[in-house]
Amino acid sequence: LKIDVHAHLIPQTFVEPVTGETPLPVRIFASGTQQPIHTQSIRALSTDAEQLYNIERRLADMDAQLVDMHVLSVAPMLFVYDLERPQAIDAFQQINNALAEVVNANADRFVAIADLPMQSPEDAARELERAVRDLGLRGAEICSNIGGKNLNDKSFAPVWRKMEELDVPFFIHPANVLGMDRLGDFYLNNLIGNPTDTAVAAASLIFGGVLKEFPRLKFYLAHGGGSCPYLRGRWDHGWKMRPEGKVNITRPPSEYFKLLYFDSLVHGGFALNYLVDTVGPERVMMGTDYPFDMGDYNSVDHVLGIAHQSDAARFAVLGDTAQQLFKI
Ligand SMILES: [Zn+2]
Repeated sequence: LKIDVHAHLIPQTFVEPVTGETPLPVRIFASGTQQPIHTQSIRALSTDAEQLYNIERRLADMDAQLVDMHVLSVAPMLFVYDLERPQAIDAFQQINNALAEVVNANADRFVAIADLPMQSPEDAARELERAVRDLGLRGAEICSNIGGKNLNDKSFAPVWRKMEELDVPFFIHPANVLGMDRLGDFYLNNLIGNPTDTAVAAASLIFGGVLKEFPRLKFYLAHGGGSCPYLRGRWDHGWKMRPEGKVNITRPPSEYFKLLYFDSLVHGGFALNYLVDTVGPERVMMGTDYPFDMGDYNSVDHVLGIAHQSDAARFAVLGDTAQQLFKI
């Protein structure tokens, strides 16, 4: 099976249908009312806004891209971490229910991972349990920071405990990135902010001791881990030479780094070879970022083109590892 672990969806219930290249209006209403609790319009689509919500179109695109299954995650615009209770719980439940409906209608092509109210970690743990046990979702997608908090913040422990108990993977996806005072031009918020914020997320899990305390957690990082695969040696060197990195961990960062997973979305053969050679083919899974304009829709070809590795390694990246991780 060829499985795309980085594929975004906005459930149709939150969208006023549009066609063509246009901002997509997205709205979440309080349950049973016409009272909006979240309103937004989404750009950054290269072709057709309906790709975000139209399932028939998605299935046709998957066929054209030789992708058998999507691990559906919401577009990061639905990290609605600014909502407060009880609206937050309501919104995330609606989102996850809608994801489950899409999966149930096409169970041979889709699995999905939940969106969680991380602004309220006890609620997030409860919603994760509901999403996995009641809805059949396979894990969760969280932002690389939660409203500006790094992922080693102690308040997130209830989520990590529940994640460990349920044995489900988490996708870490950048948004709300650091450094916006200097990344406003040239789309640098994405081109540099996204890979950098992802590296901060990984460093927080490693140096912050999250992976030491919860070594069975399975996190996978968007965009090939951003800049962090390239920084692994520097992190080990800094940990050895400096006291700051040793506050929470007694073993080198690379000992925790090797617990992470990565998608394949790096936009270049040399970079993909470097990633696979550095972290191991069993730690990389194909991701396209469908349907955004920053995606790679020749991912299958690019994975098959990985050098210095066996066919078994290429198939691990194409889908074998994802099949195990998401229990497909
Ligand atoms: Zn994405």
